[in-house]
Amino acid sequence: MKSYEMFIDGAWTPGSDRQRFETLNPYTQQPWATIPQASKEDVRAAIAAARTAFDNGWRRMPGLKRAALMVRLAEILEREAKPMAVIESTDNGKVIRETSAQMIYAARVFRYFAGLTDKLRGSTIPLDHPDIFDFTVREPYGVVALITAWNSPIALLANKLPAALAAGNCAVIKPSEHASASTLEFCKFVEEAGFPPGVINVVTGDAAVGSALTELDGVDKISFTGSPGVGRRVAAAAAQRLVPVTLELGGKSPNIIFDDADLPKAIVGALAGIFAATGQTCIAGSRLLVQSPVYETVIEKLVERANKIVMGNPLDPATEMGTAANRPQFERILAAIESAKSQGAKVAAGGGGATEPALKDGLFIKPTIFRDVHQDMSVAHHEIFGPVLSIIPFESEDEAIAIANGTRLGLASGVWTQNISRAMRMIRAMDAGVVWVNTYRMVSAQAPFGGRKESGYGKERGDEGLLEFSVLKNVMVDFSGEDRDPFAAKT
Ligand code: NAD
Repeated sequence: MKSYEMFIDGAWTPGSDRQRFETLNPYTQQPWATIPQASKEDVRAAIAAARTAFDNGWRRMPGLKRAALMVRLAEILEREAKPMAVIESTDNGKVIRETSAQMIYAARVFRYFAGLTDKLRGSTIPLDHPDIFDFTVREPYGVVALITAWNSPIALLANKLPAALAAGNCAVIKPSEHASASTLEFCKFVEEAGFPPGVINVVTGDAAVGSALTELDGVDKISFTGSPGVGRRVAAAAAQRLVPVTLELGGKSPNIIFDDADLPKAIVGALAGIFAATGQTCIAGSRLLVQSPVYETVIEKLVERANKIVMGNPLDPATEMGTAANRPQFERILAAIESAKSQGAKVAAGGGGATEPALKDGLFIKPTIFRDVHQDMSVAHHEIFGPVLSIIPFESEDEAIAIANGTRLGLASGVWTQNISRAMRMIRAMDAGVVWVNTYRMVSAQAPFGGRKESGYGKERGDEGLLEFSVLKNVMVDFSGEDRDPFAAKT
């Protein structure tokens, strides 16, 4: 059994209360490591360490030097990608082919933002007064709190931390209590790369640790990835302290197949949308909208492939779908499947937990497809965060748009068509932060990402991701030498 410690102010600590909890391997349902439960004192110490690091040098460190540290971190992450992937797959049941790719992706994001450390520019602004020089500068907030979910701890961290560091902030990170190990392992790389103590801190534990981090004084900006329900609480805590917050929340994303689509590619896109990562991905294309002329063909092909998905040990490269990441999530997915059935959704594939003897110890759910789903069923609206697909038929483009936009969430969307004019109309019509055309579930360091409606607000990655972690200051320099009326604003 591994025993982890937290990383605060460049030092490893079991926490002031020395409380620990076990983290389970969802494939065996056995504990494999213990993690410290941070106290409020630990959270306070981490915030104080970040503040000291910020004030004592990080805020004035030239971008080039910060970039060198970030590139070093990327190199170490690339070197350690394999063992890191094993740790993450052991902790959350994601298949090794996905976690391996995510480590390389995370390193790529560090490299991208390392290149932006010296490019955070302001502008000069011509005023009505020729002898007053106006310019803006972008500055870091100071101490940022980064809270992540369990489904992809390092990839989600990579969506936040590199941008925060590139903008010149120091960070306190809180990973999910269901999958903290990879984030703590990552701190060893922070140490090896030579980051000054306090620039990057990690506190672990349950919801109480997250809420302490959002409520205590000293945090200047919060970036949160998780469920809409907790997102609301985080936004409320941020409002109490009047600090800005970025929210990356859930999705119920429509993946729309028109009758003129390249069907084999669209079917692979539909599979990638819902069964990759066992559907435990915020961008899951969990609603498949299919135009009626190709409806039966798409269902037939999808069901055929879904029934052949290889489930098994997440560490085996041949495995295509791993487990639900933890028991509460496993139970939520099963309950959602039963609720869909009770509302009359028709099971076309799967429909419950896996029953094969080889899978009996793990939290396995069969790849599940509901067909003929109606907008009035909850399975068409609520995020399940599991391998459960709702297929909805449609006739016209307008109908597809109405169904696609007819939920309270607005994270991602996919459109499969070979008609460029239709693609352009659909791009314009989607109420979503992302539109993929003839592809699905593609992410990159350069492309900004973030939701609309109850999927959250703010952007991660890309140039916009950097701006999210910086604050604008306006400066006016008066070299006119004019006398002024002290009792009237100068305009
Ligand atoms: P969650 O909201 O339960 O927890 C997320 C994190 O918040 C955890 O670290 C948790 O300990 C912490 N937390 C819990 N209560 C808190 C509080 N009151 N204050 C502060 N922090 C608190 O989410 P989850 O179950 O870990 O993750 C699944 C959800 O995350 C899904 O809804 C999924 O769509 C979403 N998600 C979104 C994105 C995105 O980029 N949009 C990416 C991945 C996951």
